[in-house]
Amino acid sequence: MRPVVIAHRGASGYLPEHTFPAKALAHAMGADYLEQDVVATRDDELVVLHDIHLDSVTDVATRYPGRARADGRFYARDFDLSEVRQLQVHERTNADGSPVYPGRFASGAEPFRVHTFAEELGFVQSLQKAHGHSVGIYPEIKRPAWHRKEGVDVTPQFLRILGDFGYRAHSDPVYVQCFDAAELRRIRRKFNCRLKLIQLIGENSWRESATNYAVLRGRRGLERLAKTVDGIGPWVNRLYRLRRRDGQIRSTGLVERAHGAGLAVHPYTFRVDEIPEGFASFDALLTFCFDELSIDGVFTDFPDRILQFLRRNSGKHASNP
Ligand code: CA
Repeated sequence: MRPVVIAHRGASGYLPEHTFPAKALAHAMGADYLEQDVVATRDDELVVLHDIHLDSVTDVATRYPGRARADGRFYARDFDLSEVRQLQVHERTNADGSPVYPGRFASGAEPFRVHTFAEELGFVQSLQKAHGHSVGIYPEIKRPAWHRKEGVDVTPQFLRILGDFGYRAHSDPVYVQCFDAAELRRIRRKFNCRLKLIQLIGENSWRESATNYAVLRGRRGLERLAKTVDGIGPWVNRLYRLRRRDGQIRSTGLVERAHGAGLAVHPYTFRVDEIPEGFASFDALLTFCFDELSIDGVFTDFPDRILQFLRRNSGKHASNP
């Protein structure tokens, strides 16, 4: 089976992340899955946003001055949906306002908006109907434990919305992803969810959740994970080791261990404008990951570039059924 191409926040290498235009472009490019990140507003509405903060991708600081918390950040949880809808979405910026990826879409004049999770699932259905070709979804529950501390349990509502749109069975074209291992166990056991689940694996230093990622990357950790989830989403930098002396790149064994445990491997994030250290080109990275490691899919900001590579090497990567 050909590896799956997951449009990370849409075709976010070309248009501002998580906007409908970015999702439509990814679908037109032929991505297999469109990704959604889900956070809650003050009135408990689920919206599609990568961060629990609004300030990196919207004009919240100028539209609602004085609404930041003590840390200077503007939290989606402190705004009602009607307020979030007023915000203008732009390309991701650093705290000083400079673009995170300087070569990308830079206008900032378009009325791009934040939308709800349900609106996005409706949009995906309309796109499929109009185009006649299907696309999967790949939603992530962001910071579930943090949300509970803020007084909202995101997961039941998230699963209810998926069910409303017909996503219920293991064979449905959906992967549910989360960094929090306890939440994924809860989803599988307490909520008896049949959907495919992906454990995201980060660095403990990122403080995404209470999960110990160093343990998950080991053989036993992966075997234990396989009782709950269908696959892992590791950071691409954890797939290889770079020998600085001669620049040689070797597998860390993570993909092999995961495959040994029966888990699919969908690493993140493949960006043409941010190639991991040690690879001479984007193609060199893809050649290593697909040909040597046999990964099962990728999160990418540039779905077209991955699909072009897979087509060029279609002898090696059998087409998806
Ligand atoms: Ca995500």
